[in-house]
Amino acid sequence: MAVRPIRYLGDPVLRQPAKKVRQVDDAIRRLVQDMIESMYAAQGVGLAAPQIGVPLRVVVLGMPDEEPFALINPVIMRRTGTRRLDGEGCLSVPGYRGAITRSEKVVVRALDLRGKEIRVRAESNLLAQALEHEVDHINGFLYVDRLDSMADLMKLDGTDWSSAHAVAPSEAAAPVGGASSGLPTHAHAGPDADTGD
Ligand SMILES: [Zn+2]
Repeated sequence: MAVRPIRYLGDPVLRQPAKKVRQVDDAIRRLVQDMIESMYAAQGVGLAAPQIGVPLRVVVLGMPDEEPFALINPVIMRRTGTRRLDGEGCLSVPGYRGAITRSEKVVVRALDLRGKEIRVRAESNLLAQALEHEVDHINGFLYVDRLDSMADLMKLDGTDWSSAHAVAPSEAAAPVGGASSGLPTHAHAGPDADTGD
């Protein structure tokens, strides 16, 4: 098990649709362990395999005070409602936060670490936000792609992107170094995960 370095915006691995996992085996379980360690080391609440350079459809989620869990080949089955969130962040876009529109309710189908099909349901909480964020990652999208306007992207020191940069954030050079940041922690805690069957 090892903490692996996080890939930043500008790294092509973040932009390619990740490949489906064919078999949930020990190699995948080891990958998940590394991902969980890497997520916590970077103080994130979610991480997708491409973020550590592995182009596979694997994500891990670690809500505050909850056991972390993995989703293999996650697919969003249903999303309903919209809500405005001001302060989504990404470990691959350190130093920035964005105001973004996400769904209220999200239902995801995936495989667990035994290869068994599970469903995760979340509503109006950090988990719902993280599920959409991480599934975006394995499809090659970042939250900065979903901003309505550049004015919605804020540098953590308070200046907004548009006044500091004249380039589109989606392909701008990655801010190197600086504080890593996960998803916002001010969203409602208490995920409503149903990982059973
Ligand atoms: Zn991210």
